[in-house]
Amino acid sequence: MGRIRQACEGRFRALLAQVGARRTEQGVRWLAAQARQLAERERLLPADALTLVYRELLGRLYHHRHARNPPCPAGNGPTRPAAPAPHFLCDAGLGGLARWLRAAGYEAVWIPGITDDELLRQAQRLGAVVLTTDSGLLERRLLRDGRVPHLWLPPALRSAGQLALVLRELGLGLRPPRCMSCGGELRRVPKETVRDRIPPKTWRWQDEYHLCTRCDKLFWHGTHWQRIRESLEQSVA
Ligand SMILES: [Zn+2]
Repeated sequence: MGRIRQACEGRFRALLAQVGARRTEQGVRWLAAQARQLAERERLLPADALTLVYRELLGRLYHHRHARNPPCPAGNGPTRPAAPAPHFLCDAGLGGLARWLRAAGYEAVWIPGITDDELLRQAQRLGAVVLTTDSGLLERRLLRDGRVPHLWLPPALRSAGQLALVLRELGLGLRPPRCMSCGGELRRVPKETVRDRIPPKTWRWQDEYHLCTRCDKLFWHGTHWQRIRESLEQSVA
């Protein structure tokens, strides 16, 4: 718990600094006290209460920023954000988040069972932002020195909550979706060219199909996709 508290307090500090708060340490102490009171009142684990306070703070800052500077538009339209999209490297426990990030349109690498040393090597090689729930990793010099950009995520959150947090922390919007399996770009293909790969029922009602340019997986926007998209849109709402 000590490490999670430290990591959460580190996020409070960073967020307060981002908005130019003058008495940062006082703010951090106040937020930590809020979490303690919340834990007592609602009988929550201290780590869960800290996570809630962090999300609440981030939500408030996000809406404040959002009002002044809207994030990139959602959907598959032609408008793309001017800045290059960050590339993410998820730690061994964040396979679910990697899939959600790809659906939100971002390159996200996840290697099952990857060691911390290898994770840091890959992050440097790819120039990627490391996403981790491991507060111990924050002690590594490459992260402490800021040579490897990173974001710590509270371990209590599920994948959709983690995604909302990443997008809000980095001020990112939804981009055209990528392949959820491998992160490759999707290319629209004429229905007839993939006829033998489409189940007959789907063929009858669905006209739009996409192929992954990397792993060749076929996608169409069925009801499952609609649910994912709705959840993604909530992440940036
Ligand atoms: Zn793919």
